[in-house]
Amino acid sequence: MKYISTRGNSPEKQFTEILLGGLAPDGGLYLPGQYPQVTRVELDTWRQLSYADLAYAVLSKFATDIPAADLKAIVSKTYTADVYHNARSGSDTTQITPLRTLEPGVYILELSNGPTLAFKDMAMQLLGNLFEYALAKQHDELNILGATSGDTGSAAEYAMRGKRGIRVFMLSPQGKMSAFQTAQMFSLQDPNIFNIAIKGVFDDAQDMVKAVSNDHAFKQKYKIGTVNSINWARVSAQIVYYFKGYFEATKSGDEQVSFSVPSGNFGNICAGHIARMMGLPIKKLILATNENNVLEEFFKTGVYRPRTTAETAHTSSPSMDISKASNFERFIFDLVGRDAAKVRELWSKVDAGGAFDLRGTDFWKNIGQYGFVAGKSSHADRLNTIRTVYKKYGVMVDTHTADGIKVGLEYRETGVPLVCLETALPAKFEDTIIEALGRKPDRPAGMEGMEKLPQRSEVMEADVTKLKAFVAAHVPQ
Ligand SMILES: *Cc1c(COP(=O)(O)O)cnc(C)c1O
Repeated sequence: MKYISTRGNSPEKQFTEILLGGLAPDGGLYLPGQYPQVTRVELDTWRQLSYADLAYAVLSKFATDIPAADLKAIVSKTYTADVYHNARSGSDTTQITPLRTLEPGVYILELSNGPTLAFKDMAMQLLGNLFEYALAKQHDELNILGATSGDTGSAAEYAMRGKRGIRVFMLSPQGKMSAFQTAQMFSLQDPNIFNIAIKGVFDDAQDMVKAVSNDHAFKQKYKIGTVNSINWARVSAQIVYYFKGYFEATKSGDEQVSFSVPSGNFGNICAGHIARMMGLPIKKLILATNENNVLEEFFKTGVYRPRTTAETAHTSSPSMDISKASNFERFIFDLVGRDAAKVRELWSKVDAGGAFDLRGTDFWKNIGQYGFVAGKSSHADRLNTIRTVYKKYGVMVDTHTADGIKVGLEYRETGVPLVCLETALPAKFEDTIIEALGRKPDRPAGMEGMEKLPQRSEVMEADVTKLKAFVAAHVPQ
């Protein structure tokens, strides 16, 4: 399997060559040169597999330069009931991503039973093991530098903790994360994890990370890398649970399923798009946004208009508060018939802070064949959905999942199972659950007293020189 850039001006690469990197050198995103196709016979065989074996079957089509036995070992140690054990009572954790029935034809696919209670663990845990494997082979090290307002940072830290050859330097705005999120990250005592609380807001932290990444000499000397959502291995790991969810919701490969996906950076639903391109019988990919509806707007109008930071609202589904969707370029590459020149033309507008408009083009005329529909939710919609789902089905869902259920139900079709992806557990967003239901969500066993655990972090001014000095002091030369 060869990987190509959506901008068309980068050499072809193999899976492990793009594993540790981010953007392609030409500024594009990597995608398979062509999508592997899944035959009906394979689909029927895969239906019988455990999650780990299914993950191996899917990923071996993409990670073709990792020896089979190695990939199998990595995947088996990642997808265990031990790692994904935080399910609600009654869920079968041996399934890794159990399917919960709300009513016949409407399901929740539980993707948030990993260590940080959000779906990002599904891919990030694999990434941790893949990174450790690749670095050991290359006798190399990696220092991951990132900025987080919550979910991504914690998922990265829990994936990389204790991994040989890897350190994590994670910046967060001091005092701006919830007590739960802060405790989740700052209670980690692993010597390879460094939490840096920045005296400022999230954008200050992000700007510091960007400044360090733009210092190429420093970046090279200290082997600085990232784990953002454009990482191809993360996208490929997410393809697996679309297959798993499909098998759980159907009896045979003759049936179709629709998936509803709470979306931010378009990483999760991009994996659904690829599963569909591989031949998984997906009827609709239902894209749900919150008030930050840049993607909903595109799928309804054909206009993609990223927002400024000032135009980006802070909502009760904060992990979807994005101004532009970093993975969206992958879908557009397919939509324009994989014409890299066209992608370059469109993104020259986006990268200059502008918008593009596909209305009136053949691309827009043909968009129906990709199965996307879109909708959005308001804060009131999410509260309402949390209440209704709790009252009607006795199931508590978080604000992001509620967004997906709200929009999913608007597009429900009779005879087509609707699978709503659960992107976080309600325990992560206590305040909004109390607002909706007048009670606290249950916490998974072992997390009850998390805020009382000893915490470890470094408080720092929003000063790039200080950040560089801190990294240099903690990376042995
Ligand atoms: C990251 C995240 C999302 C958005 O996923 P994308 O892949 O960025 O579209 C939705 N919900 C939760 C809880 C998340 O952490």
